[in-house]
Amino acid sequence: MTCDEVGRDLDAYVDRELDGETARAVHDHVSACAACRRRVSERESLGRLVQTMPYYAAPDRLRARVAAQSARSRSTRRLATWAAAAVIVIASSAGVALLRSTTSRGGALADEVVASHVRSLMVNHLFDVQSTDQHTVKPWFLGKIDFAPPVVDLAASGFPLVGGRLDYLGGEPAAALVYQRQKHTINVFVAPDRGDASSPASAQSIRGFHVRHWVRDGMSFWAVSDLNDAELTTFVHALETS
Ligand SMILES: [Zn+2]
Repeated sequence: MTCDEVGRDLDAYVDRELDGETARAVHDHVSACAACRRRVSERESLGRLVQTMPYYAAPDRLRARVAAQSARSRSTRRLATWAAAAVIVIASSAGVALLRSTTSRGGALADEVVASHVRSLMVNHLFDVQSTDQHTVKPWFLGKIDFAPPVVDLAASGFPLVGGRLDYLGGEPAAALVYQRQKHTINVFVAPDRGDASSPASAQSIRGFHVRHWVRDGMSFWAVSDLNDAELTTFVHALETS
């Protein structure tokens, strides 16, 4: 698959609307191509900004500013044509700047963790590999990512492993391990630690989801679920002591 072909399928890929074979082809290309990985990451950021409430207010102000600018300009007509696109571009860069200035990188990652969790549930893309067997899930990641995520089943502690998939965090590939607690899904994102989270260990609540972050053996872990705080604490403890 070429970069152009990836570009054509980018939106559908990010929205997880591609058929399995095409998605895998895009994924394989993106895994090996930094430029396309950046495009995926940017497209995902834009999608998140559109979904994020505080930014709803921005486009009106920005539209007014663009309109004022285009009124002053000689090429009013052309600018007007591009005004809609400009609003999106300005809104997205303003939003990104706002995100960077008001939250740490760790905070932005935590938001991304929640967004990925919600997306995995909404678009029915919870698994690339569906198995309760850690000896099936662990090797599945081999060759797909350049690190080996620790994969353990926690059925004995009441948190059975149900599968895994490839995901992205901060534009980098991450292993997503999926655990179940009754009807609740727990996504655990694992990626090499880049020292970019705000603190080595943290707990926070974002839009009703509990998020835990910790670092162990050079790996960065993010656990996210709508499970109650106490049970998620038990889960993280079970994972950490396994
Ligand atoms: Zn490419």
